[in-house]
Amino acid sequence: MTAPVALLYNQSMLTVSEIYKTIQGESTYAGLPCVMVRLTGCNLRCVWCDSTHAFYSGKNMTREEVVRQVSEFKIPLVEITGGEPLLQADVYPLMEDLIGKNFTVLLETSGSVSIENVPRKVVKIMDLKCPGSGENEKNHFDNLRGLADWDEVKFVISDRTDYEWSRDTVQSYAIPPRQVLFSPVFDRISLRSLADWILADNLGVRLQTQLHKHIWDKNAVGV
Ligand code: SF4
Repeated sequence: MTAPVALLYNQSMLTVSEIYKTIQGESTYAGLPCVMVRLTGCNLRCVWCDSTHAFYSGKNMTREEVVRQVSEFKIPLVEITGGEPLLQADVYPLMEDLIGKNFTVLLETSGSVSIENVPRKVVKIMDLKCPGSGENEKNHFDNLRGLADWDEVKFVISDRTDYEWSRDTVQSYAIPPRQVLFSPVFDRISLRSLADWILADNLGVRLQTQLHKHIWDKNAVGV
């Protein structure tokens, strides 16, 4: 168990890597049109990270500018992601602003930062980092006590060791399996392998894939 991470950014502006529309690809909302708001900065360095472009670069924007740009897409689903979006102080009022505008708000977070100040109506898609990520010791397990029924816990799995750790973690922390996503690291293990392991253990978790990487180039950004 680790202590909560301090905010990297504490300013009245948001540092935004990109805002774009896409097909949501990594949750029970997968397949739906969605506006992604990717915030800059991350406190982790997962070995298989596919969002390294969000570590440093970004544009400073006010909350009002972000909400205006999101609204222009005329899509009711918005996801706040990163990097690690909870490192920026203004992300909390931004989520309130978006809820106030009747968006369904998803938050993708690494599981290393406390979620206690995230507005309850936000759908939290929270990773727990497996050993193969290289960041396993950063998991903030107290977060599991703050999840709502509609939140989701995602395990990104790179090999059999990761799978067994994920399975055992779901069971030892009594995470409701219907809230659990098991996702293979793209190009590391196959969906078939993960499916076989889930079925062999009769787990009630949801197998998922990064849908957007099947639609567009797997290395593409901004889709
Ligand atoms: S938490 Fe996400 S953005 Fe950060 S290093 Fe890991 S995969 Fe990349």
